[in-house]
Amino acid sequence: MSRIALYPGSFDPITLGHVDIVQRGLQVFDEVRVAIAVNSRKTPTFADQERQAMIEETFADHPRVSCVTFSGLLVNYCREQKIHTVLRGLRAVSDFEYEFQLASMNRRLTEDVDTVFMMTSEEHFYVSSSLIREIAINGGDASSFVPPPVARRLAKRFG
Ligand code: ADP
Repeated sequence: MSRIALYPGSFDPITLGHVDIVQRGLQVFDEVRVAIAVNSRKTPTFADQERQAMIEETFADHPRVSCVTFSGLLVNYCREQKIHTVLRGLRAVSDFEYEFQLASMNRRLTEDVDTVFMMTSEEHFYVSSSLIREIAINGGDASSFVPPPVARRLAKRFG
């Protein structure tokens, strides 16, 4: 049986911090499925298809990484897809409270999905999609914090 981890998030856009978590996940799981949460109440900077394209291009050489979009409750999606493990990244202590609340609620909603946390490397722990967007919108260079497919799009859009 192959062990699949679902890595959900907004990925607006994917950063090297996210990439780091996927790579760590690959050491433990047979497959990491990056799952973009499509939320009709939030307007993302990058459209769902564009976020998906950036992730697919980033992991084009990694056959054990795939990318999907999902809407609605994460636990429902896991149940539908028969996935039992959710992967999340932890940066600083500040992530912990929110992640702990989310994982605990998901466990209350369904017993057969567990959340596994991985710590990012030191060089990525201050990287976030929102800061990347902020840098790019204000004309800064965010290219050293994101994979090349994202850097290209940021330059095209805000450069
Ligand atoms: P969400 O809107 O669900 O927080 P994000 O795309 O911001 O979506 O993050 C998805 C997951 O990746 C979360 O678990 C978050 O803590 C983690 N993450 C985000 N940035 C980093 C980073 N620089 N290093 C490690 N994990 C990260």
